[in-house]
Amino acid sequence: MKSILRLAIALITALNLAPATTSAADTPVKVMIIAGQNNHAWQKSTPILQQMLVKDGHFEVIMNNSPASGAPASAWDAWQPDFAGVGCVLLNYNGELWPERIRKAFTAYVAAGGGVVLIHASNNAFTGWKEFEEMVGLLWRPKDFGYSLYFDDNGQIVREQPGQGRGMGHGGQYDWVMTTRDPNHSITWGLPLHWMHKHDELYHGQRGPAENVHILLTAYSDPAPGRSGTGKNEPIVWWVPYGKGKVVVNLMGHVGEVGSVQCAGFQTVTCRACEWVATGHCATPVPADFPTADKVSFRP
Ligand code: ZN
Repeated sequence: MKSILRLAIALITALNLAPATTSAADTPVKVMIIAGQNNHAWQKSTPILQQMLVKDGHFEVIMNNSPASGAPASAWDAWQPDFAGVGCVLLNYNGELWPERIRKAFTAYVAAGGGVVLIHASNNAFTGWKEFEEMVGLLWRPKDFGYSLYFDDNGQIVREQPGQGRGMGHGGQYDWVMTTRDPNHSITWGLPLHWMHKHDELYHGQRGPAENVHILLTAYSDPAPGRSGTGKNEPIVWWVPYGKGKVVVNLMGHVGEVGSVQCAGFQTVTCRACEWVATGHCATPVPADFPTADKVSFRP
């Protein structure tokens, strides 16, 4: 009888241990970084993004840059990004409209459950590509283009009508205070309510269809002289569902002389976003060097 009990305990123990050794976390998420054209120094920021993902340890990174600006049609014909098996497409791209076959493949990839994370000026791209504009929600577009969102001082979302309210743009560059708006999301769990983001360019008044936009992080756009902001809490990181897929937009990451992509806050949020859009969860703890309410954290 005792030996049967022991056997039962051994079996239960083995079953309990089994999931830990075959957890989804052991399978790296395949991230395809697409750059190749940008009004920012993508040649400088892309290797930093790549290193950041490799260091995080949850990812397998593939680079797949588009042809250069003004490249001949033959170069575009030769560009065949294959989204099969990709968990996250990380866009560091702001350039020419992709050929229709790639736009269709990309849209189908997201609709079928694929993940996308956009960095900074990537939301400037692709004017008129309806599916892209729908999945991004808020873009660098003129005031008439669509709706705009911000948080008022009571933490309520204000929806500005097309043509009304503040226009799209950005003020000066400075260290901003980020505010965590949804602490229960996989991307933001455990983050401080307020934290400093290292010297960056703060977009405001982004416009778009703004449907199903889930805002995770905002920043106060300081109207002080030299900063020239809106005095509003601007959405900085949000996500939008598209079909079975998820799209995260991260407006941080203007590459200046001090490299905001090296902020520990930017890197934590971006890595978590890449994992979450691919798997639907993210268990990455808040790193010890995460910025605080009064101190930025820079990873040289
Ligand atoms: Zn910029």
